[in-house]
Amino acid sequence: MTIERVEVAIVGGGPAGSALAILLARSGHEVLVVERSAAPGWRACGVFSPTALPRLADFGITARDGALVRRLPGLRLEVRGSPPLDLFGNAFPAGFSRPSLDAVLLDMARTAGAQVRTGVSVTGVSAASRVDPARIEVRGRDDGSRVIAADLVVGADGIRSIVARSAGVGIRPALRGRVALTFHVREPGRARQAAIEPTAGARSGTAAVEQPRPWVASPNARPGRTARMVVFDGGYCGLAPVPGGRVNAGIVLHGRRWLEALRSDGPSAVARRVLAALPPDPADGTCIDPHPLDAVAGSFPLAHAVRRAAGPRWLLVGDAAGFLDPFTGEGLDRALVSAGLAAEAIAEHRRGRPDALASYADALADRFGPRDRLTLLLQAFVARPAVLAYALRRVGRREALRRTIDLVLADRLPASRALDPHFLAAVLAP
Ligand SMILES: Cc1cc2nc3c(=O)[nH]c(=O)nc-3n(C[C@H](O)[C@H](O)[C@H](O)COP(=O)(O)OP(=O)(O)OC[C@H]3O[C@@H](n4cnc5c(N)ncnc54)[C@H](O)[C@@H]3O)c2cc1C
Repeated sequence: MTIERVEVAIVGGGPAGSALAILLARSGHEVLVVERSAAPGWRACGVFSPTALPRLADFGITARDGALVRRLPGLRLEVRGSPPLDLFGNAFPAGFSRPSLDAVLLDMARTAGAQVRTGVSVTGVSAASRVDPARIEVRGRDDGSRVIAADLVVGADGIRSIVARSAGVGIRPALRGRVALTFHVREPGRARQAAIEPTAGARSGTAAVEQPRPWVASPNARPGRTARMVVFDGGYCGLAPVPGGRVNAGIVLHGRRWLEALRSDGPSAVARRVLAALPPDPADGTCIDPHPLDAVAGSFPLAHAVRRAAGPRWLLVGDAAGFLDPFTGEGLDRALVSAGLAAEAIAEHRRGRPDALASYADALADRFGPRDRLTLLLQAFVARPAVLAYALRRVGRREALRRTIDLVLADRLPASRALDPHFLAAVLAP
């Protein structure tokens, strides 16, 4: 039996895998992308990004494509007991339609010359030998298993990466035990008055309009619908306007109380309860209609970590190389940045530089290690809403602190600036 052979086999055709395939195919490499889904499906995670738009522009994707992307004025971080904090107004905040984005990127990979096989799963990987080619075992919907040999295998296969698992590099991530619920809701189109008349969901219990309102209007409010990130006890909810007059809701929950509620009441009921309890939008007083427009998708786990992101004949990009809780909305950005670094490393590797793949792993750790530490620090605040409110009150009164946080989160200043003990003392000292 002859075994098919390719230069680079990419497992997974999400943003990381497609972006890498485009870059490699454009520079003349022979690339095969194997994607499990027959076509990019509906997805309500990975939709808000303050930084991905300029990177996507390098691929020819711009905010002019209204079916794909919607520019947003910014993101407002809200927690009870503090004025909201406006972020990303000077960056490129945007809400994406993930099925459209994934489909466009995959098409670009085809156009660039990559072979793309959809509806095909990779069921086994062996890529440990420096001498022999790597091998992947693939299985389509209607045919049996086949083996494909590759000079290099790339794991772009997300948080449960089979490539990372086969290489034995998975380690216990921080921030375990979280569950995410994602779905779309109708974009509120009603003016302030509507918020005073509770929606059906609001009438059902913890209506935002029935709560005491420590929430005050943001001093930096801008025109247009801003994304929101609302932190509450045991979780947070991101609300990002996306194309099609919809708002993408992403709820992350932790702690026994929420996990039990999920078990006993189910994800849809919990999602509705969380949305109904959200305060009105501080900018215009509108309330979110708490009824999901589509099935509530659950994600678990929400973290993945690896000891290293490359080996003799393999490397990992995007979520497969590591992912922590999506609070800072940087998954898409990481997918694109890691694809860029991987494309350079693979080109060097093919030119014969022996340490090219190891250098990629180092570059990735340098690029994202400080961001991960920042995410963990932020999560320590998010887990204690009263402490977060205290910090936000202080930051809100000091423009220099707000600006530093804004620029760091938008990746325009190194994360180390916000991890500096002097900076932290300025945020926290009474
Ligand atoms: C609840 C939630 C909310 C999020 N919100 C945001 C956000 O607002 N902004 C943001 O930037 N990021 C967010 N993220 C993260 C974002 O979704 C990811 O970082 C991004 O999708 C990573 O892209 P990727 O290409 O690495 O992986 P994925 O998008 O997961 O793509 C992996 C692909 O590999 C395929 N695959 C997997 N296994 C196999 C196999 N064995 N064989 C063949 N194909 C396979 C899958 O079908 C999939 O298409 C969120 C994540 C979650 C869970």
